[in-house]
Amino acid sequence: MKKTTHEQTKIHNMRLILRTIYGNSTISRADVARITKLTPTTVSDLTEGLIADGLVAEVGFGVSIGGKPPTLLSVPSDARIAVGIDLGDSELRGSLINLRGETLYSASLPGNLKGDEAVNQVIALIDLLLEHVDRKVFLGIGLGSPGLVSLEDGVVRRAVKYQWQEVPLKAILQQKYSVPVAIANDSHVAALAEYIYGIDPNEENLVLLKVGEGISAGLILSGKIFAGDGSGAGEIGHVSVEPNGQPCRCGHIGCLETVASLRALAQMTREVFSEVNGMSNDAILDRLVRELEEGNPESIQIARRAGEYLGLAVANIVGLLNIHKIVLAGPISTLGDVLTESIVASMQEKALDTLSRQTQILVSKLGTNIVQIGAAALVQQTTLGLF
Ligand SMILES: [Zn+2]
Repeated sequence: MKKTTHEQTKIHNMRLILRTIYGNSTISRADVARITKLTPTTVSDLTEGLIADGLVAEVGFGVSIGGKPPTLLSVPSDARIAVGIDLGDSELRGSLINLRGETLYSASLPGNLKGDEAVNQVIALIDLLLEHVDRKVFLGIGLGSPGLVSLEDGVVRRAVKYQWQEVPLKAILQQKYSVPVAIANDSHVAALAEYIYGIDPNEENLVLLKVGEGISAGLILSGKIFAGDGSGAGEIGHVSVEPNGQPCRCGHIGCLETVASLRALAQMTREVFSEVNGMSNDAILDRLVRELEEGNPESIQIARRAGEYLGLAVANIVGLLNIHKIVLAGPISTLGDVLTESIVASMQEKALDTLSRQTQILVSKLGTNIVQIGAAALVQQTTLGLF
């Protein structure tokens, strides 16, 4: 029992030292000791272990304050590489991601399979990626899945897209690859990516609104993913906003997804411009983005309408949580200022003035890899305690 406690303390201190070095681009052992309040001997001993593992490197000398100059330590960006998988897109996409959230290599496979075949497709994608990584620095596998995902046991409770119900994806992959595996909802890991690598990182609270084929939000509260009691926090796409609206694929009427998702937007565009019939939703979105840049009034109207409904969702989030930072991600966020201005106007109309004035609506700069970056960050967080 005593031995376990000693081992736990050692791991805790090692993570603390690693996190401190990671958070400073370069730092001396003495400064690590000062910041962590650990003894210089403990810092020296544990740092030796981190250097032997390749997680920390000596990178030169600092300024001497009398005596010999201190050796500076750093965490090399490529010290560990994680696989990050995005299961929430129309394609199954994966990347090799380093410890600074940089994408080193990407691959994709068709994402239209269901059930066990979809699980096998995930394995095929991981195999593809692993051909390009040195096993010595391979950290683990992170996945962002649509639907309800239990963070603790890594079971996908329900993902309609793949017809998955109670699929123990974490256990399946851990058994196959013998590395750490972490899995969470795709919007939740996107929020984690934004928290660590996004605009003004490390702000304690944020809401990430992911608008693509579906609409859902990821919440970071006090620096941690808030998944909700039943892993369904942020599932706002199926809240009805139009009592007399269109039927939704979930069986209800007038859900937010029926008026502001990529599917809804593409449908609205087809009704206005007959020439886009037959084009994919992604192609229609590209066209809308171009037309908005040219100032086409009908396209502006389509984007504004989606923005009004998203603003209603944001007003509810702001009223409930009073979180100042709301970040848009996903394909629809590429619609630019017309969309964000419309969201802001609609939010201001529907939420309490004092609250909406404090709220910033931003567009993520992490691009289409945001879920993959967040999934990799989840592994970095759970295995190395970097954030
Ligand atoms: Zn619905």
